[in-house]
Amino acid sequence: MKRVRFISLQEKLSRIIFSRYFRLGLIVSGFICLVLLRQSSKTFGVSLGYIYIILISLSGMWFGLRGGIISALFAAAIFLIEVELYLFWPARDLVLKGSLFRLAVYFLSGIILGYVSELQNKLSQEIKYLAYHDKLTGCVNYTWIVEFLEKEIARSRRFIKEFSIILIDIDHFKSINDTYGHLVGNDALAAFANVIKANLRNMDIVGRYGGEEFLIILPELGSNAALEVLERIRSKLSEARITSRHLREGIGISLQFSAGVASFPYNANNANDLIKLADDVLYQAKQKGRGRVIVELRRCVRLKPHKGLGVELSGLVDKGKIKIIRLENISERGMSFLSLHDFPDKELLCRFSLPGQELTSEFTCRVAHKSRLERGVYRVGIYFVDLPAPIRGTLFHFIHQAEN
Ligand code: GH3
Ligand code: MG
Ligand code: MG
Repeated sequence: MKRVRFISLQEKLSRIIFSRYFRLGLIVSGFICLVLLRQSSKTFGVSLGYIYIILISLSGMWFGLRGGIISALFAAAIFLIEVELYLFWPARDLVLKGSLFRLAVYFLSGIILGYVSELQNKLSQEIKYLAYHDKLTGCVNYTWIVEFLEKEIARSRRFIKEFSIILIDIDHFKSINDTYGHLVGNDALAAFANVIKANLRNMDIVGRYGGEEFLIILPELGSNAALEVLERIRSKLSEARITSRHLREGIGISLQFSAGVASFPYNANNANDLIKLADDVLYQAKQKGRGRVIVELRRCVRLKPHKGLGVELSGLVDKGKIKIIRLENISERGMSFLSLHDFPDKELLCRFSLPGQELTSEFTCRVAHKSRLERGVYRVGIYFVDLPAPIRGTLFHFIHQAEN
């Protein structure tokens, strides 16, 4: 259904008043009114003439230096034409005497106000930029990357899409500062951020999450694609020799990183948990010797199975059917169910049936855990080994539909 946004009358009015066309119209009609007034009064009425200065100043304030100058030129031209056309106007001589001063005031007010307004615009743009960005690396800052993450979660939930995040941290960065100095460290950080940015798509976003730690958001990419992105960054970084104007010529620094990857909605369905999981695996990567990437695969959000989802399981070797008495939870990577009988198989064959669709083709699953509950019931956890991408897509869509 098309969404209709309600705009109040006040909002509508303020939009009109602050629009460029309205302001332009105001200035042009101001000029026309003044010319007509002077025509009808048949005098150079000094007070009327100086109202031009207000119009010129407004043009400078609203349209910058160019607006101020064009407006001053316009006022000067009208003034000169009037002086030439109306030779018999009273006090013409007096006006002529002050004409140079008058023209100078026209131009000065246009130039000064135009310049001040451009300066103000530039400053406010810079303040805005600094509110969203980290100046050293040009990445968005912590506040904004977290805000983007919240938005991406809302968007992906709404459109039933997945996405991945990467927490990436430079290895042994402190030793670069210690060896070459903080300024070289700064240049190395900026170069590192540039390598990341150059290897992302337009829709991806990278933010400076901490000192030498960056958070990358990769909309609509699963963890495998995130690994490819990291591989690209790693290979470009290994080719790059980072230099700095604070380093002696011929010296180049090489950087190495560790990274943790987590995906929505597989690993977590809120920003805090997702970042925490990526941080945990990043920590593991550091513990395991750095220079590596770890994808969070162990912890995942499992959902109550949506009504209409059917599962068929059979042994890989003997093809004997395994009776499922209840499907407890499912994710697009595995599921947990209760079964009435034990089975020896470690690997199973699985097929899904979704409402209105044919049974999917068979794919392999592996038993992750099996425990005996009371009355001979077994709880079994399996993960999908070679789930074909189209089936995964259908299943993903189906199980997350219920959440919306
Ligand atoms: P690890 O491999 O465990 O990540 O080691 P590390 O040395 O990279 O990590 P550690 O947390 O010990 O040190 C991070 C260093 O990053 C310390 C800090 O001085 C430096 N750093 C943080 N922000 C900046 C910055 O803006 N400029 C510079 N030059 N250094 C920074
Ligand atoms: Mg580090
Ligand atoms: Mg760090």
